[in-house]
Amino acid sequence: MSEFDWRRKARDSVRSHSLRSRLSIHDFRLRYGWKYDEIAVGMRAEYETGQCPYCHDPYKSPEDVTVDVLDPNREPFYKTNTKFCCMSCNSAKRNLPPMEWEKRLNDKSRQLPLFVVRPFIPRPRQIMPVNSPQIDRLIQMGRTAEIMRAARRIIRRRLMEQ
Ligand SMILES: [Zn+2]
Repeated sequence: MSEFDWRRKARDSVRSHSLRSRLSIHDFRLRYGWKYDEIAVGMRAEYETGQCPYCHDPYKSPEDVTVDVLDPNREPFYKTNTKFCCMSCNSAKRNLPPMEWEKRLNDKSRQLPLFVVRPFIPRPRQIMPVNSPQIDRLIQMGRTAEIMRAARRIIRRRLMEQ
């Protein structure tokens, strides 16, 4: 994605957040310090460093990086009340205050191992559970983004051994 595209993306983000504030784009930017260049550079750096700070999934594409207003009940000052996150976390979070959102994230990560302990790929009449010390270790360390990747590698290896 070019510099121009990142800037366009920053503009889109400012526009949609200003709509929520009921200020004009101009007034919103001045009042809350949302600068196109700074946002564009920030988004790009966020995308390049890799994963959503909430769900720890890798960003699917540059478009997946969004600006989250941390506490929607406070004024959206760019420097102090925003954070980048993925699109699905941003829409799941919606207007939840930070405490509520944190609670939901914790619930989710507590459920996560149940789902990831046995990742599987469906094949005709075959579901393959993956139990391995490597997966257990990743779960213990909370490195959720790597679990599915590791599971796929293990499955591929086992299929080749068959
Ligand atoms: Zn996320």
